[in-house]
Amino acid sequence: MKIVFATNNLDKIKEVQSLIPSHITLVSLESIGCHEEIPETKDTIKENAIQKASYVKEHYGLNCFADDTGLEVTALNGAPGVYSARYAGPEKCSESNMSLLLSKLKLMSDRSAQFKTVIALNYNGKLFTFEGVCKGEITKQKKGSGGFGYDPIFKPYEEIYTFAELSLDRKNQIGHRGKAVTNLVNHLEFV
Ligand code: IMP
Repeated sequence: MKIVFATNNLDKIKEVQSLIPSHITLVSLESIGCHEEIPETKDTIKENAIQKASYVKEHYGLNCFADDTGLEVTALNGAPGVYSARYAGPEKCSESNMSLLLSKLKLMSDRSAQFKTVIALNYNGKLFTFEGVCKGEITKQKKGSGGFGYDPIFKPYEEIYTFAELSLDRKNQIGHRGKAVTNLVNHLEFV
């Protein structure tokens, strides 16, 4: 089975690839000649994921899934959420995003947060969505050099380390994207 993963994020591809069984081949946007920026203009991560997966199906006629992820911080009423990528500005800089978040939480005692991933699958024109959540807290400083995005400041509850200090396998085992991908793979076994 061949299926397009609608992302240009190499870190996401690495995480997802290691969870996909060998009979499913992930196809990149580059290999189908999709070089344009896929619109991501909705107000929820679920709608954004659907928008991206459906764009590929409509323009390239291929079965496709897309992931959209948000970091929801309790003390900030769920922000940055769907705006996680552009939290500190349109340049989508992870270092600036983390610094802004750490400064907003400086005087807060509640540092609880969760990552939420929604994967949308457009398969033969039918839409399915799969969710994965990882609960934890925002650390007081950046730690670790692995992973990407907000990983250096997010510590899952079941760990004493941030995602950026954990192996890819461990992040996949307890993380939001790993859970969503597992749900996707279970579904694909039956299509
Ligand atoms: P998007 O899903 O690519 O739109 O990601 C939204 C924002 O969340 C971006 O700033 C990403 O870097 C960040 N992000 C997405 N997934 C993860 C993750 O697994 N760990 C840390 N940050 C992430």
